[in-house]
Amino acid sequence: MATTALERRLFVDGEWIETGDWLEVRSPYSGDLVGRVAKGGPQETKRAIDAAERAMREPLPAHKRAEILVKVAGQLGRRHDEVARLISEEAGKPMKAARVEAKRAMSTFTFAAVEARKLAGEMVPMDASQAGEGKLAFTLRVPRGIVGAITPFNFPCNLVAHKLAPALAAGCAVVLKPASATPLSALLLAELMEAAGLPSGWLNVVAGSSAEIGDVLVEDERVAALTFTGSGDVGWKLKERAPRKHVALELGNATPVIVCADAPPDTAATLAANSFSFAGQSCISVQRIYVLDDAWDEFVRDFVPKVEALVVGDPADEETDVGPVIDDDARRRILEWIGESGGEVLTGGETNDRDLIKPTVIANPAHDAKVSREEVFGPVVTLTRTSSLDEAIELANSTRYGLQAGIFTRDLRSALEGAQKLEFGGVTVNEAPTFRADQMPYGGVKASGNTREGPAYAVRELTEERLVVIQL
Ligand code: NAP
Repeated sequence: MATTALERRLFVDGEWIETGDWLEVRSPYSGDLVGRVAKGGPQETKRAIDAAERAMREPLPAHKRAEILVKVAGQLGRRHDEVARLISEEAGKPMKAARVEAKRAMSTFTFAAVEARKLAGEMVPMDASQAGEGKLAFTLRVPRGIVGAITPFNFPCNLVAHKLAPALAAGCAVVLKPASATPLSALLLAELMEAAGLPSGWLNVVAGSSAEIGDVLVEDERVAALTFTGSGDVGWKLKERAPRKHVALELGNATPVIVCADAPPDTAATLAANSFSFAGQSCISVQRIYVLDDAWDEFVRDFVPKVEALVVGDPADEETDVGPVIDDDARRRILEWIGESGGEVLTGGETNDRDLIKPTVIANPAHDAKVSREEVFGPVVTLTRTSSLDEAIELANSTRYGLQAGIFTRDLRSALEGAQKLEFGGVTVNEAPTFRADQMPYGGVKASGNTREGPAYAVRELTEERLVVIQL
């Protein structure tokens, strides 16, 4: 439970500003006030873009950018408890998961610092053609320009880190709009970046009405790139509205896993642990498990008791595995989807005495039910009995999403078949597809997005090649 409510201003042009209007941040668990954040709009967003433009007129050398990133990583380590607690309070994320997120943010800044130091173009072998003889050519990687970044509620620290750290590594100034439900971690990161020596204008954080701030970021021609993590409906519309900007989208998934008869013995435990962390509100939370006939009985027998053993409760408690979903609307929608699944609810399917949805397992839901086709973003997993690997792959591929998928088997041929045929940005073998290390190329295909994050890949997205040809 939040003890003292924080009050945070917006960070624009190196100043902490008030606007006369406030956004309230409430605990999704208790409803208590966690903090108040100054609410910005078009005026603050324009001011932020002006500041970013001024900042980029005086580029920061790579060693300075790397130094700032390393300092922030160090501060995230030193202030780990505070960072994890803030994530937990504003997002209702269990401390166990909030600690993992806080540590991962350190890793994101650390890898971005490496990228800042090695950002370079490449030589072009000019004398490989007659036309190029007598010339020397190479490419420079130059920052695209001002980056407009928009982030979701579910990883309020590390997904903000995945926007801010690579942008600085690339030499781009940023205007960030964090999720309205969880803006406090973003503002803490801004505080750490300022304390690490980031000059004015390189980072601006404007919380407030998404439509108003989004409109300015879309319409202002000085914003060269938009980087968005969130739901597909919002993301693809942004891209349509900004045809001349570079628009990078990290969107949702309805994460599938295939369990073969020769899956390793700890498969049920791994999947039970990875299907419900942060109440399933991760874009790669395991949602649809396709179990081959021969594995079905044993898997169900192992999996359900492990799910029932998860501790549901107060996110501030270090023992809690599953806490609340983000708000009442989400809770109502998830319960509705469970109710109309057409399958057998093996466990859960209802709320506990604190109105938290119990981890829910549904056997054999209808193929066209929402839990089978859409992103649940809640503590719900479906188990579907399948007769062959081909059928399981076809079902796994049958939604519009394509972020990450997993396959559990000890047979190399089945594993490679999964890797080749599953139409996803990433495929994990004998590991839950919820797995992400921050240096990985991470991103989706199909409706799940059009980019890869992970500092090395995001830096590539946020810079462009400039060719230099020299007549010798
Ligand atoms: P969301 O509702 O799409 O919101 C994401 C961000 O977009 C928020 O900052 C939101 O602001 C903003 N936004 C909403 N409408 C906007 C508009 N018209 N113009 C500009 N910005 C707008 O998503 P969410 O509920 O926070 O997050 C859950 C979704 O994110 C899920 O689909 C999940 O899978 C996806 N996700 C994907 C990844 C990935 O890496 N692929 C990672 C995490 C989450 P407000 O908060 O003010 O509404």
